[in-house]
Amino acid sequence: MAITPLMPVYPRCGVRPVRGENCHLIDENGTRYLDFASGIAVNLLGHSHPGLIGAIQKQAETLMHVSNLYGSPQGEKLAQSLVDHTFADTVFFTNSGAEAVETAIKTARAYHQSAGAEHKNELITFSMAFHGRTMATISASNQTKMHHGFQPLLEGFKYAEFDDLESAKALIGPNTAGFLVEPIQGEGGIRPASDAFLKGLRELADEHDLMLALDEVQCGVARTGTLYAYEQYGIVPDIVATAKGIGGGFPLGACLATEKAARGMTFGTHGSTYGGNPLAMAAGQAVMDAVANEEFLASVRDKGERIRTRLEQFIGNYPDLFELVRGKGLMLGIKMKVESRPFFVHLRDNHQLLMVAAGDNTLRLLPPLVIEDAEIEEFFEKLSAGAADYEIPQAS
Ligand SMILES: *Cc1c(COP(=O)(O)O)cnc(C)c1O
Repeated sequence: MAITPLMPVYPRCGVRPVRGENCHLIDENGTRYLDFASGIAVNLLGHSHPGLIGAIQKQAETLMHVSNLYGSPQGEKLAQSLVDHTFADTVFFTNSGAEAVETAIKTARAYHQSAGAEHKNELITFSMAFHGRTMATISASNQTKMHHGFQPLLEGFKYAEFDDLESAKALIGPNTAGFLVEPIQGEGGIRPASDAFLKGLRELADEHDLMLALDEVQCGVARTGTLYAYEQYGIVPDIVATAKGIGGGFPLGACLATEKAARGMTFGTHGSTYGGNPLAMAAGQAVMDAVANEEFLASVRDKGERIRTRLEQFIGNYPDLFELVRGKGLMLGIKMKVESRPFFVHLRDNHQLLMVAAGDNTLRLLPPLVIEDAEIEEFFEKLSAGAADYEIPQAS
């Protein structure tokens, strides 16, 4: 048989981690890597946070899973902390980001359809977006490479240009249900929306009674220096999908909504067997306890600013390699003037520095939010050494 037991949908690299120590990963051969990928913005407390581990251990010994047919003291508690710290009035827990976005899509459609507007089922989404890999979430993205082989797509998505308010406005019609947008595109290349764009979408949504649904699966949960990125745009969304960092490494996602936005999400309309299980709730609670306070958020902003300032100085030394730095907090991208992927591979294989490649020839920096000065120093040492001995591959 030629096929591998692990379905070969990922081109996996030679790094095979077996252990994590704070901001480092150790592979099968004992090689240590500095982890500036964090499982793609997941391990925000690093790999060995005692509070997170303790909470999971304790809950695993007590009660791991029960059905959502029963009352959930654990779920009520975590939902209450999300409600207390965000715009939301109500929360649905999922096991992944794509499911959180699915819930957001259903919530936006149900907002209209539960009020009799059956035709209002279209969401306007944006170029270079990434919302997950389920049928609905690939349909929500204009990236055809994710569609190939999986047609037909789900109906009800119209693609506008990211950060271009006029192109979004032009797509509004009688069937529009709302907008679905990442405030800062992650896979698309750490591209932050402008204030004017998100404020403009909010105004359009108010004017036409549309839902503004944000996909904060990557940029949410303290990553940008506020608990959610929308706070920095001075807008209040109707619906937010969150996941990745919220479990700190345990699979957890959530769809947050206002009471008004959730008017269609009534008994029996939605569900999940695993979603909101006590073990996931314990992990989510430990993460919220660690990050949802001004001291922690200020430390993320401070480290983000310091890294950004140094990066901007650093890239000036290599004007042929690097173009600019963008992002917010500890969600930073270096846009390269050459193909970013070979440089990312070089840093990984020759300097044991893990980052993430992204669209638009961008290198993503997504360190654990708990990094300290020593790791920031280590990062710049590795990056400098990597830039100094990099040979740009000749185009064939
Ligand atoms: C990762 C990601 C998703 C999908 O999350 P999964 O947990 O992989 O399903 C959705 N939206 C954004 C913005 C993401 O970065």
